[in-house]
Amino acid sequence: MTTERRIITSDENVERQMQGRVLEDFVRSCIVMAIDSADDSEFYEVPNAEWIAKYTRKGASAFGYKNRDFQIDILNDPAHHKVVMKSAQMGISEIMARDCVCRLCKNDRTKALYTLPTDSDVGIFSDTRVRPIFEDSPYITRWSGKGTDNLGRKQVKNSFLILRGSWDVRLAQMMDIDFIYIDEFDRQKPDIIGSLRARMDGSAYRYETDYSTPTIEGFGIHTLYLDTDQKEWYVTCNRCGEEQFITEEHIMFYEEDEEHIEPYFGCLRCKTKLNRFTGLWKPTAKGKPEMSGYHITQAMSPMISAADILHKKETSQLEADYYNYTWGLPYRGSSEGSVETIDYDSIMGDHPLDPDSRTGGKAIMSIDWGLPWSWAEIRRIEDDNPDGEIIWIECFKSTNPDDHPDRMIELARQAEACMVMADIGYSDSRGYRLKQALGDVFWEVASNSVGTVEPKFNLKNHHVVCFKERILKRHFVLLKNKRIWLPHDTDKIKFAKDKSQTRVEKWLEHHKSIKVRKNRDGVEEMVYAGQDHLALTSAYCDIAFEYLLKNTSTTRRTQRKVRVHRVGRG
Ligand SMILES: [Zn+2]
Repeated sequence: MTTERRIITSDENVERQMQGRVLEDFVRSCIVMAIDSADDSEFYEVPNAEWIAKYTRKGASAFGYKNRDFQIDILNDPAHHKVVMKSAQMGISEIMARDCVCRLCKNDRTKALYTLPTDSDVGIFSDTRVRPIFEDSPYITRWSGKGTDNLGRKQVKNSFLILRGSWDVRLAQMMDIDFIYIDEFDRQKPDIIGSLRARMDGSAYRYETDYSTPTIEGFGIHTLYLDTDQKEWYVTCNRCGEEQFITEEHIMFYEEDEEHIEPYFGCLRCKTKLNRFTGLWKPTAKGKPEMSGYHITQAMSPMISAADILHKKETSQLEADYYNYTWGLPYRGSSEGSVETIDYDSIMGDHPLDPDSRTGGKAIMSIDWGLPWSWAEIRRIEDDNPDGEIIWIECFKSTNPDDHPDRMIELARQAEACMVMADIGYSDSRGYRLKQALGDVFWEVASNSVGTVEPKFNLKNHHVVCFKERILKRHFVLLKNKRIWLPHDTDKIKFAKDKSQTRVEKWLEHHKSIKVRKNRDGVEEMVYAGQDHLALTSAYCDIAFEYLLKNTSTTRRTQRKVRVHRVGRG
């Protein structure tokens, strides 16, 4: 016997959908009737987290806190000034938008200001976060005012939500407000915060909530956080009972065999795998009484594994991005677009600038061609050390173009360089000569201001394409992280016969005279106050070194992965 399969026609399908919609509308109207007859006191007294779960929806489902228990106490916290220093993608903007709507509903005739850095941020936020709250939630839909449904202004009951970009001038003409929500605090126009707070002076409520992914230490959200009780999310070890909040130190490894190493979040005391599904907020400092602070990391989400975190570490363009977005931590010394503030004494090595340093074939060299000047750097590398030591800085001058490749070939041989990278500018004459002399050790680099983010190595023609702004920015981070050692500068090797400046000083000058910053579209651009040659050659050495690291033994890679830094908690 065969089962008869009924085919549903498209007409029937439409009918079914319509029935579904009618049913949905009916359910909505029932809910609205229920709230209209609901006990008023419950509406006003239920804590914000419960209120949001009850009266707002996310799409077709109820709004909940599954796997995000940590959100509940933040919402229910009655403090007048809340500060959340957060990693990316933990749903904080989402709950704050709902918290804002909740306060407006609970408190008749109030005004809330929700600020983001720019008008375009406001447009996106209004569309993707605020509008769904108003459209998906039957209560809110019913309470929202007609004719005020635009991007920047929304009415709910007799209260108003105003959304603004802080870099927008219209903010200056704003009215008094009762609640402010400052999203992406570290990207806000700094001088506007004070005048925003002043708008609350006449209010009986005065609630401020600031949240942001941190950037650098002692700036923005991190400064505010330090004034609070600095709450961390503690989990309890099921085995030994030790309470702890998860940091990078908690990443441990099961070693089944050499090939299979499984990372996990383990107890610092007994190494047992931690249960991250439940936790508790606990203060770690005595802050100002009116301020309440929370620190949120991606490790707090049981959905994000230790392997996910390590993957983020490996794939982040910049180490700062990793600490800011994954751990919600400011990154030490990361005014990363420049090295103006670097403490040079601390990155001076013990060795003088010495072209005869023994490298045992472990040296990389980079060249920036020019006329009459060409520039080069030679860096010594070691198998078991992720740091590089500069052993030679070349500032070569000759008006005879042929002298340039000759000098560089001589240097590469002297240092026994295993990788030599030169800018592609003089490929036909000089690049050709080096390729003849050095063979596969030689690579040519094209550095563009557009296109590829990660350097791309073409093994066929030994060409590398890289994004100049990006590699320089990363270079600055490496320097601040003390991953590159400068030669000791006492021997005063002059960079030119007629100048007293040494080569190390010249190297520093080139580094200080450039800056990488983001333009309004978020794209990196260079700002020059002088020449950049020795900074560029040094950045070429970085990418050569990274290439070598990636393409050597797996043992080394594992070691690099396991290397754990403690940062940002100073
Ligand atoms: Zn334990």
